[in-house]
Amino acid sequence: MSDALSTRLVHAAGGDRQSGGVHVPVHPSVQYAYENVEDLIGVFQGKVKGSFNYARQGTPTTAALEAVITELEGGTGTVSFATGMAALSALFLTLLKAGDHLVTSARVFGNTNSLFQTLEGLGIAVSRVDAGDVAAVQAALRPETRMVFVETIANPSTRIPELEGLGTLCREHGLLYVVDNTVTSPALCQPRRFGAGLVMNSLTKTLAGHGEALGGAITDTGCFDWSSYPNIFSAYRQGDPRGWGLQQIRKKGLRDMGGTLSSEAAHRILVGAETLTLRLQRSSETALTLARHLAAHPAIAKVHYPLLESHPEHAEAKAWFGSGSWMMSFELRAPERIVEVLNRLRLPLKATGLADTRTLIIPVAPTIFWEMGREARAAMGIAEGLVRLSVGLEAAEDLIADFDQALA
Ligand SMILES: *Cc1c(COP(=O)(O)O)cnc(C)c1O
Repeated sequence: MSDALSTRLVHAAGGDRQSGGVHVPVHPSVQYAYENVEDLIGVFQGKVKGSFNYARQGTPTTAALEAVITELEGGTGTVSFATGMAALSALFLTLLKAGDHLVTSARVFGNTNSLFQTLEGLGIAVSRVDAGDVAAVQAALRPETRMVFVETIANPSTRIPELEGLGTLCREHGLLYVVDNTVTSPALCQPRRFGAGLVMNSLTKTLAGHGEALGGAITDTGCFDWSSYPNIFSAYRQGDPRGWGLQQIRKKGLRDMGGTLSSEAAHRILVGAETLTLRLQRSSETALTLARHLAAHPAIAKVHYPLLESHPEHAEAKAWFGSGSWMMSFELRAPERIVEVLNRLRLPLKATGLADTRTLIIPVAPTIFWEMGREARAAMGIAEGLVRLSVGLEAAEDLIADFDQALA
């Protein structure tokens, strides 16, 4: 994470040229009117760049946010959505059709896995494999495979896929490589460097960082050759092929499906993003200190945190992200005491959600992974006594003191 990024972040969005206001204005208009009908026609036909017609397809405020994310990801364009899940739904539903096949990690975010079940109901086959093993992903490929989807750091296991090797595999097979960058954010990782064609970010989490706005984004990195992708509608097979995929996602996924980010939320996310590097630096340092402390605690059986030497992808985390980010999980030696221990904690909020300024804590099995049942949890490596922690901006010594008293 470079200091230059901090500089770019606070100036990235620019302000309001007209008034000199330092923030991008919140544009509430649904309609955008034009003096001449020719201009209106041009907007509809995509001949006027950066113009607006109906807010379901974006506003000047969401466009400003999209430009910031494009620049952070080093991409060619971004489409924003109301939530991260709206972004993922739009991505899969606009780019896959019945008969297609998708390969993904067996450890993806629970709601994403649930979305994959919906896709299976629509006739899209999904293979869930060990994404840390390129050979396993390769073995799952079929002639009808269209896409490989992984997350940079899995929630809550903190396991990291073979991001580099999968990029090479996808390039060799002409497959679309999609990376969910939510936990790392573009400040720690630009999946473009691994050859990802599309990057998804839940803006709700690391990018906004304050837990008062939902949002999601899909960024095209420019790495993928859309002219070879069979599912692009003829209406979008026009102009530079590098824009085809995102154009289809915006038209089909945003205009038709309507999971649009509001200008108000886009504004809140933009303000949050200004402090991205500072928050990440602080919470990552605290997370590592706390992870080391908990790993040495007699009441804890195991701590999962990428920058611990005991983590299976410790070297990759160091090389690829230079940080372990804010998420960790741990297993109690006495899982039956999980409720008692968590209740005794004073600082962490007992809440779901990730990447807040406040530390959040949740027992995993009875909450976010409850719906799938014990067997599926075991298959995903989710221990019944697993606790997930999203480390906030509190002082490390305060959190350590609190855990010590709760675990005593
Ligand atoms: C939270 C999350 C999402 C979904 O984002 P929302 O904005 O909550 O809809 C997707 N992927 C990962 C890895 C997440 O942590």
